[in-house]
Amino acid sequence: MDSPIGIPQAEMLPKSVHPLRPGVRKPVQSAIRSVSYHLFMSATPVHSTVLSFEDARRVVEEQAALIQGSIVAGMGTESVDLLGAAGRVLAETVAADRDLPPFPRSTRDGYAVRSADLSQLPATLEAIGEIKAGEKLDRIPSNIAPGKTASIMTGAPMPAGADAVVMVEYSSQHGKQVKITRGVAPGENIVARGAEGQEGALLLDRGLRLNEAAIALAASVGKSQLQVYKRPRVAVLTTGDEIVNVGATPGPTEIRNSNSYSLGAQIRRAGGEAVLLPIAPDELQGLRRLIEEGLRSDLLLMTGGVSMGRYDLVEQALSELQAEFFFTGAKIQPGRPVVFGKCGAGARASRRGETYFFGLPGNPISTMVTFELFARPILEALAGQSPRSLAFLHARLKKEIRIKTGLKRFLPASLSGEFEHAEVELVAWQGSGDIAATARANCYIVIPADREQIPAGEWVAVMKSDC
Ligand code: AMP
Ligand code: MG
Repeated sequence: MDSPIGIPQAEMLPKSVHPLRPGVRKPVQSAIRSVSYHLFMSATPVHSTVLSFEDARRVVEEQAALIQGSIVAGMGTESVDLLGAAGRVLAETVAADRDLPPFPRSTRDGYAVRSADLSQLPATLEAIGEIKAGEKLDRIPSNIAPGKTASIMTGAPMPAGADAVVMVEYSSQHGKQVKITRGVAPGENIVARGAEGQEGALLLDRGLRLNEAAIALAASVGKSQLQVYKRPRVAVLTTGDEIVNVGATPGPTEIRNSNSYSLGAQIRRAGGEAVLLPIAPDELQGLRRLIEEGLRSDLLLMTGGVSMGRYDLVEQALSELQAEFFFTGAKIQPGRPVVFGKCGAGARASRRGETYFFGLPGNPISTMVTFELFARPILEALAGQSPRSLAFLHARLKKEIRIKTGLKRFLPASLSGEFEHAEVELVAWQGSGDIAATARANCYIVIPADREQIPAGEWVAVMKSDC
């Protein structure tokens, strides 16, 4: 099998036909059964359940919805100050404490007028006062009678009688005489009282990840503290005899642990708190002990040890712990051997009794991509966040792509240009272990599983990992 764009051979082989571990897996399910994804629940051997990307993602979303349904009882909450709440998930509802805006607000600097007075242009009106933002009620003219006007500033309350604001650009004032050269429709340049939200209206709901607009809205209704969900604790267990800690000096054939750190960063961004466990050996007993420790967290993410090598023991260890597997692979590249399931063993100390886990492939880019595609929705659900779909941008492909069919690809790429000129091209890489190439990339091009060739100039889907 040739390997387009440097795809490692092992990743392109279906797990079930890999020669290294005959007998361990049953043949690949060609289609999933809609009734149940729980294809086995016993100890070894592990059945192989390799799903299309879409089916695997659906399974994840279904589990995320189940978590979401039970989250209020499960997760603790804490009160944080408003700025500290940015990026957190709201655990209370926020309502309007008064009408928004609390008075009819001028959106322009200009003149408060009766629109009917401007039926003949130019019109000359008599100025009877000035209203600035924050003007005391007793200083606002009590009525704008026909033929009268008041100068008004942006953000100032409208006086009674006036029904529109003419922008200052269409006026000139000499003494009390104001000449106006353009008409206005009733309501123009005014936001009516309560138009943005009536007193008591729900503004922000539980489960919302608080961005700057939500923080501003909470500020505008006087919330200096917000109740948010506690961050779920996510255990990160990296496996492999060749992996050493970042601070250690690696031997000639050893590799520094980078996956725990990419995951730590992704976990943080998705609203969790990473707990890095010691590196697990490629040996069953030690691995199982650390898996049990990891299962005490709210979510367990393992990296490595899920491919078809003789020392890829993660599934076996989980299976011995009576884990339930939703899938053991997805037809994607990078990241095909990704494993998703849940397990009760060792989880008694976790908040939920059963702990979800992912076995993410050890190749660093596979780890990053499979986190974004599959682990993130589960972590977000555990963090109390309402489900959301994957977000894609679109950009024009700069250079033709030729690729084998059968796997949906998420390939590191470089996005440039803006608006209708957005362009994207693959970065040259050495396959799913090439961290340096991926650090030069700023997105992933998404290639459907049935496309062999995509010509330059076609609009393609692009996944930004940070949106
Ligand atoms: P595995 O999935 O265990 O077969 O590992 C696939 C590749 O990823 C191998 O080249 C590993 O050395 C590498 N790898 C596994 N874990 C890590 C890690 N924590 N950091 C960096 N590379 C890793
Ligand atoms: Mg390994």
